[in-house]
Amino acid sequence: MISKRNYRTLGESDILVSPIGLGSVKFGRNTGVKYPEAFAIPDDDDLKALLDLARELGINYIDTAPAYADSETKLGKLLAHSRDYWCLSTKVGEYYQSGRSHYDFSAAATQTSIEASLKNLRTDVLDLVFVHSDGDDERVITQTDVLESLQNLKDKGLIKLIGYSGKSETECLLAMNYVDIFMITLNEQDQSQVPLIQACQQYNKGVVIKKALASGYSTDTNAALNFAVNFPGVTSVIVGTINPDHLKENVTGLVAE
Ligand code: NAP
Repeated sequence: MISKRNYRTLGESDILVSPIGLGSVKFGRNTGVKYPEAFAIPDDDDLKALLDLARELGINYIDTAPAYADSETKLGKLLAHSRDYWCLSTKVGEYYQSGRSHYDFSAAATQTSIEASLKNLRTDVLDLVFVHSDGDDERVITQTDVLESLQNLKDKGLIKLIGYSGKSETECLLAMNYVDIFMITLNEQDQSQVPLIQACQQYNKGVVIKKALASGYSTDTNAALNFAVNFPGVTSVIVGTINPDHLKENVTGLVAE
């Protein structure tokens, strides 16, 4: 059980999040993903039980995206009665249609996406919205309208925090002045973005970790999670699971440093 004492502040905001969050790719999408094993999308009853368990374990942070098929809609329905308890992050830029991803970082797509996320998640304000990069971070940051559009939506009060989820080390740094939080890959096999975590510490930006278990390829999940959760500068580690036993194991195996 994660105690509120161990919650961490998300960047310079007043939002407190559990050091482990729940990733929701597998809530809605099982095509065009790279997990080790095929899986069935959980039904609403299974998801409700998983979300109830997450809350019992002290998790208060869930990450979703339009690219995770109907994950947002499912979360909106299942969390409608407890919206205030949760910190929810979603994304813009990557979209899922006919079993595949496509990308659009235009102002119009960003506006439409935020309106849809507000509706899907049944909320008046989105806690955190990441740019869901296609990997060409320099182009996304310097040559598209996405960050300026998110700033406009933040100014209108529809978004609390702007985030960037990219793939590069140095190109992501170009977003430093425009975002509050970075979503960064960190696991024992891939530490290429560690310099970005260090820059975030310097600039007081929040750091949310993705792929801490190497998307399911990690052999020692307990060591991998503790490595990421206790890494200097990390705010929260988003673990993707649809297995209640794994969720429990991930929380009970935490060793706070
Ligand atoms: P991950 O969290 O590193 O790994 C998830 C995989 O690990 C799942 O297949 C899960 O399977 C397995 N797993 C979890 N706990 C386990 C345990 N205790 N023992 C054995 N296996 C375990 O990878 P991820 O899902 O790619 O990333 C996490 C989240 O980060 C995503 O859900 C998403 O929210 C976010 N993300 C964002 C981006 C982006 O912005 N570009 C990219 C990737 C991920 P079970 O379901 O069977 O537990």
